[in-house]
Amino acid sequence: MTGDINMIIVMKPGASEASIKNVKQIVENKGLQTHISSGQEVTVIGVIGDKSKLEQGNIEIAPEVDKIVPVTESYKLSNRKFHPESSKIKVGNTIIGGDEFTIMSGPCSVESEEQILQTAFAIKKAGAQILRGGAYKPRTSPYAFQGLEERGLQLMKEAKDATGLNIVCEVTSLEAIESAVKYVDMLQIGTRNMQNFYLLKEAGKTGLPILLKRGMAATIDEWLNAAEYIMAEGNPNVVLCERGIRTFETATRNTLDLSAVPVIKQKSHLPIIVDPSHATGVRDYVAPLSKASLAVGADGLMIESHPDPKTALSDGPQSLTFDQFEELMGELKTIAPLFKKTL
Ligand code: PEP
Ligand code: MN
Repeated sequence: MTGDINMIIVMKPGASEASIKNVKQIVENKGLQTHISSGQEVTVIGVIGDKSKLEQGNIEIAPEVDKIVPVTESYKLSNRKFHPESSKIKVGNTIIGGDEFTIMSGPCSVESEEQILQTAFAIKKAGAQILRGGAYKPRTSPYAFQGLEERGLQLMKEAKDATGLNIVCEVTSLEAIESAVKYVDMLQIGTRNMQNFYLLKEAGKTGLPILLKRGMAATIDEWLNAAEYIMAEGNPNVVLCERGIRTFETATRNTLDLSAVPVIKQKSHLPIIVDPSHATGVRDYVAPLSKASLAVGADGLMIESHPDPKTALSDGPQSLTFDQFEELMGELKTIAPLFKKTL
């Protein structure tokens, strides 16, 4: 199919610039496009266009070509075949997907200046790198608190300026994106909008890092295709977030699919974090599943916290108190080295 990356040409480790250029030239002379991804050791060249135009033999005998791998999956740019090295995504002054285990925390909704500042200072002290807080809330009921909107974004920015934390906010519409780009370090696409392709494209166009939550009924394949929508806009800065899926089980709000972490790590080069708060809906389950997320290879966590969870305007029952958050951070710091992560 025209426009797709149908195959990738994997160069030998340490292949010279001249060999890479030569292969690129051979492919482009056949009327096909190339997309180069250079890792520290290996460069891969994606071939875009009608693959029947390419006689594989020609390329395979070109100097320093290792092999040609067909990419049969519909997601290409997010595919690990296309980008063998794990991606590291810069969010403000922190990096997700490297050695560090990244912690995002904060209230479900930004409620007041006092609430968000108190939270920002508390999570910063405990060692978090990113403050989360919803300003546009996609609530199940139209009568529930819908968020402070632009005022919420302004308060998040105020908390950023006061603490030096990076900030992430969910966007639910084009208007929200237009406002959020003025304030935030990262845009969040929530579970309900994972397949809102228009919104994905608009978020992609901003160039900002995007936290893409898994749709509550989406397969991993659909999730990676959603990431592809963002990346196809020329924005490679996508971080995935497993936040639980709908199953028959009702003891927890959703069922945390921890197996998604190693599956994603195999299929994609994108970082993945876990949100045990929305996955369970129950405060007591957040700490054990946070530790399990670290153990299965996640790159970080999103954890809801609140100065006084019982008065929270949304998601109080799953929000940690600051004491609970600090205690969890201490435990994570102790075990992180076992999983080759720093915190
Ligand atoms: C949130 O992070 O506040 C949120 C609404 O999450 P989700 O989209 O995973 O339900
Ligand atoms: Mn919430």
